[in-house]
Amino acid sequence: MKLTIWGAARQVTGSMHLLEINNYKILIDCGLDYEKGTWQEENELFPFAPSDIDVVVLTHAHIDHSGNIPTLVRMGFDGQILSTSPTADLTELLLLDSVNIFLGKERKHNRNKRRSKSSGPKPLYLQKHVMDTMERFVTIGFNKPFRLNGSVSVEFIPAGHLLGAASAVFTVEENGTQKKIAFTGDIGRHNYPVIVDPQPLPPVDYLVSESTYGGRFHSKESQIEQVLLDTVEQTCIKNPGRLIIPAFSIGRTQALVFSLNKIFSKGLLPKVKIFVDSPLANYATEIFRKYSSSLNEDAQEFYRLKGDNFEFDNLFYVQNLKESKELTNYLEPCIIISSAGMLEGGRIQDHLYYNIQNYYCTILFIGYSAKGTLGHRLLRGDPVVHIRDRELAVYATIKQTDLFSGHADHEGLVSLVRNQDKAQLKKVFLVHGELQSMEALRSDLVQEGYQVQIPEKGEVFEL
Ligand SMILES: [Zn+2]
Repeated sequence: MKLTIWGAARQVTGSMHLLEINNYKILIDCGLDYEKGTWQEENELFPFAPSDIDVVVLTHAHIDHSGNIPTLVRMGFDGQILSTSPTADLTELLLLDSVNIFLGKERKHNRNKRRSKSSGPKPLYLQKHVMDTMERFVTIGFNKPFRLNGSVSVEFIPAGHLLGAASAVFTVEENGTQKKIAFTGDIGRHNYPVIVDPQPLPPVDYLVSESTYGGRFHSKESQIEQVLLDTVEQTCIKNPGRLIIPAFSIGRTQALVFSLNKIFSKGLLPKVKIFVDSPLANYATEIFRKYSSSLNEDAQEFYRLKGDNFEFDNLFYVQNLKESKELTNYLEPCIIISSAGMLEGGRIQDHLYYNIQNYYCTILFIGYSAKGTLGHRLLRGDPVVHIRDRELAVYATIKQTDLFSGHADHEGLVSLVRNQDKAQLKKVFLVHGELQSMEALRSDLVQEGYQVQIPEKGEVFEL
């Protein structure tokens, strides 16, 4: 068999790997490459003919793994797309959201075009292409080998990280011998709210592993509920303030809502009102409810004893823009959970615009903010920021916790490899990470006697 690393090579986004067995071509993930941008000409140049791909296997719904599949379909791919059921549902939501982002950017560009006269880039795909894509999905369960043809089968192993996320393990019969190759997708951490723990992989010959948190360790000194409790108490109980939590709508928001539900159901705090202000989060929460039997044991136990994981007395889901705007007039202390997580666009910008100069406001960051985003500037400690073309002084308190990170850290990634049978595992390929994260991980694994490769984009391996 032949492996080609076509994406997430020495970078985080754009996961795309090609596995060829006797001319049968399997594409594992087909994500958007943010390093290239999100426009048509940057992502539609596939290094192979889309119509030559026999099947796509999707590890999970995040856009850096799924976001370029509609382009593949638009350009001639007509095979099946295999994923778990929750991944299929979440992918549809995220792809439709991507279309809205493309169209929003195009509108903005066209407005500016009247001044610049340059012809604008085109959206990568439209709603029609997302619908054509969704028709190609075939869903399979966890831990059930699925035969792709006479000599190849695939099995999804729970990877934690996000509802429905899986590692894909392929068993290949070739020239009378059997080989196994696993693609981790993204690996989650243990004891994460709502999401199951990653399950150990079966022994394999080759492992293509993510490396996002290589060389980095999650803090261990505090627990999610304690951090939330202390922050709410300080901001909304001891002071008459507002707590604003920017959160990604899918995964992060549900983890946060469930953690707050546990705090308030134990009566640990007076019932401060909580507003979830993100249409996408409302849809995603419905999908989490639909797959409640796929949530972790803690969430299922809570459901049995107390009822809905994502619904409680003092929690309100904001339904429309009018309600969102009314929130700015709400005078009592409250908690606002809104997107986007890095503060680029979305309703969160309104909340910041009206609260960033408020001494009694705290902004709690629970996710990563990339360079160049408003989130990054606030975390860096800029005393003044620009929102909606206005210069605003930052008087709000800025806090951050990494406890909501959905990725395994260095220790988690190393132990994933250590769980393997050392005699059988021939090589580990590191993808989906900055080069320095990969090098930190490689250095530790090599010391323990593993063969580790950091592939370049387009590098081909005969296995
Ligand atoms: Zn992911």
